Amino acid sequence: THYVYRFGGGVSDGGKGDKNLLGGKGANLAEMASIGLPVPPGFTISTAMCARYYEEGERFPDSLRDEVAQGIAHIEGVTGKRFGEPANPLLVSVRSGARVSMPGMMDTVLNLGLNDETVVGLARAADDERFAWDSYRRFIQMYADVVLELDHGAFEEALEIAKEDNGFTLDTELNADHLKALVAEYKGLVEKEWGRPFPQDVHDQLWGAVGAVFGSWQSERAKVYRRLNDIPADWGTAVNVQAMVFGNMGDTSATGVAFTRDPSKGDRAYYGEFLINAQGEDVVAGIRTPQYLTRTAREEAGAKAASMEEAMPEVYAQLAQVFDTLENHYRDMQDIEFTVEQTKLWMLQTRSGKRTAKAALKIAVDMANEGLISHQEAIARVDPAALDQLLHPTLDPDAPRDVIAKGLPASPGAASGAVVFDADTAERWNADGKAVILVRTETSPEDIHGMHAARGILTARGGMTSHAAVVARGMGRPCVSGAGSLSISARDKVMRVAGREVREGDILTIDGATGEVMAGAVATVQPELAGDFGTLMAWADEVRRLKVRANAETPDDCRTAREFGAEGVGLCRTEHMFFEAGRITAVRQMILASDEAGRRAALDRLLPEQRSDFVGIFEVMAGLPVTIRLLDPPLHEFLPHEEAEFAEVAAAAGVDIGTLKVRAAELHEFNPMLGHRGCRLGVTYPEIYEMQARAIFEAAIDVAEKSGAAPIPEVMIPLVATKRELDLMKAVVDRAAQAVFSERGRTVDYLVGTMIELPRAALKAGEIAETGEFFSFGTNDLTQTTLGVSRDDAARFLGAYVEQGIYAKDPFVSLDVDGVGELVELAAERGRKTRPDIKLGICGEHGGDPASIAFCETVGLDYVSASPYRVPIARLAAAQAAL
Ligand code: PEP
Ligand code: MG
Repeated sequence: THYVYRFGGGVSDGGKGDKNLLGGKGANLAEMASIGLPVPPGFTISTAMCARYYEEGERFPDSLRDEVAQGIAHIEGVTGKRFGEPANPLLVSVRSGARVSMPGMMDTVLNLGLNDETVVGLARAADDERFAWDSYRRFIQMYADVVLELDHGAFEEALEIAKEDNGFTLDTELNADHLKALVAEYKGLVEKEWGRPFPQDVHDQLWGAVGAVFGSWQSERAKVYRRLNDIPADWGTAVNVQAMVFGNMGDTSATGVAFTRDPSKGDRAYYGEFLINAQGEDVVAGIRTPQYLTRTAREEAGAKAASMEEAMPEVYAQLAQVFDTLENHYRDMQDIEFTVEQTKLWMLQTRSGKRTAKAALKIAVDMANEGLISHQEAIARVDPAALDQLLHPTLDPDAPRDVIAKGLPASPGAASGAVVFDADTAERWNADGKAVILVRTETSPEDIHGMHAARGILTARGGMTSHAAVVARGMGRPCVSGAGSLSISARDKVMRVAGREVREGDILTIDGATGEVMAGAVATVQPELAGDFGTLMAWADEVRRLKVRANAETPDDCRTAREFGAEGVGLCRTEHMFFEAGRITAVRQMILASDEAGRRAALDRLLPEQRSDFVGIFEVMAGLPVTIRLLDPPLHEFLPHEEAEFAEVAAAAGVDIGTLKVRAAELHEFNPMLGHRGCRLGVTYPEIYEMQARAIFEAAIDVAEKSGAAPIPEVMIPLVATKRELDLMKAVVDRAAQAVFSERGRTVDYLVGTMIELPRAALKAGEIAETGEFFSFGTNDLTQTTLGVSRDDAARFLGAYVEQGIYAKDPFVSLDVDGVGELVELAAERGRKTRPDIKLGICGEHGGDPASIAFCETVGLDYVSASPYRVPIARLAAAQAAL
């Protein structure tokens, strides 16, 4: 086995298919080199070495030294420069590159190969003393930070003092002599802090940097990023060593980042930023405000500084051609890093560009319409979970706005929340259930947990490709970046803008689509569901087999669900209807009644209310199946818990407070989730289910008579464990149906079925299917009862379980396919054996989770049912599962 793969100068040991081995960056550098694009020569040390490095106690095998020497020789051969040789020194960059990009998470060292001798050679070779010493100064500073892990504050301070001493404000005002003095000071700082002189041997420098890149894989921020993005720790990173090209060699040099299409809106327009006379990280770090790539973008923004198209028209034209080559080659929107060294263009990176959900959708649809990809590929390109970003409200354009600042529209969507100035507070307040907006001068990778906790992110500095912007887009958080008029003091927890003060806890609204920052909360409007969204959904509907229903219990929910494309209601939980004002008293009277006659009297008062509930739902869902679940939760949930409420409730229900307390105590259970709930209520108080069934059939006939389109009620019995329970409950329902049909002189079609949400029910599904006409997998309870983990208390320890790899994901979010999934599969099989046409669905939360939906497809369920806002996610996920 070998670990070093070369690229550039007509050689490519790897290609874009080798991402697992070479990391994304290494694989694409090799690929770009192989299609003839200008890539500085270099080599990649594979991810396999990262694993070996850790296995062997953070040491390199001897064989790697020879391979790296050959890699360096390759670069020397192509460039004609020599590593460590004063006369014509080769400088290299050393960068990390994992399989998937982890923006800002890993380490980079530039200008490696400079020492007291080569700096002189570089000055001579470049005929630019200032450039050489500035490069050396940057190198020491980066190396001290990344490899030696010294406090970078001291170096920045030294730089500031050097400027102050000379009365300068810009780094660029320092001349070669100033920089020489600064280098001497930096070396002194290294020696003082590190205890040894700055390494002069270029090979020591190289191995130090390679070790640091591998080391950064296990840094705290990398670990957090991996956890948030489900990236396995054993993937490791590759290391790319590449000849330096310099964007900081005067005004014919530049460095930039670009997207082949707009990553925020998805428009087909080159999009990017560049800086003249600057080095790579300057753009990403957001230290200097970059210039636009295209003239149109500059004009739209009303910016003065010339765009690249205007300032360097020839190189720009070449770059635009490279964009087209890359898009046609990769058939996807690319995110690119480039450098111009004295008018010569060099490509440093390409990868599939991260994009907002809106852009992902538009780009997928556009590319399919352009013939670049198929409809199926377009479907596969959009992450269903990301659709969430599009389905939520945006700011009402007509609502009054108290705009206090404007920044860049870095990541779309609107968010309101309480202002916090640091990531830890963001996380804490969010855990307490508070919506927060994280406000920072600029964000760094250390802020990532706070960005995740926040509803939105606002920064005073940084461009569209700054850390805040890139990370927020990836997470789907609205973000406004570079709002330059803000003056933020994180220490004093205050932000000043236009003569106003905003303090921690004050409410702020940001609009990531316009860049506006507003005081207070602003009204929102529903999202637009036509256009690209509608197109992609239509393509998805053509290929999916699974039907998609919604969990909905009000006419409003049902309307939302239908707008989102639901093909029925998969779960209407009736208990919430019992809590409504005006009914809860009758419900309590029913619970408090001492005999059946008393209960029936109370239920008679509930009947018309329930009937009108169902009429409302059936009207919206006209002609579509509606699964209504009969009462499920334990009765004591309907009684008061607070002392203060007892008197009021007793008076309203017409009983004395003592009776109420005794009944509440009687109903108390130690494990209510395993207690007197579900069909156990129906078995003990069949009159409750009888009333509900009657309400359903009366409503169905009312709607059928009025509209002509009869709804198709599917009456569902919860928490069944045995066939006998279902037999008894089905008899109650059928009797109610017969009674209503004969009273009204007409019938409607209906089904009676059951939830499968207990392991016993799954095991005995064959038998239960003799009675049940459909099964709906209640995977919330099925997960709880199979794992023996309370769905209400799991949060306390499930985090640790996921972290330690006991479960890959929270099993209440993504189905435990191995365990709970096996029960689902087995129940489906046994149910079908008894009743081949049995209707099978899922209505637990998993019905809206793409990975769980993929599983439902393999088991061959008939439908999934998800909350209304997740219906489109489910439609797309179902289509992807069918591809
Ligand atoms: C379930 O248990 O999966 C289910 C859908 O029912 P509920 O969440 O109401 O218990
Ligand atoms: Mg349940």
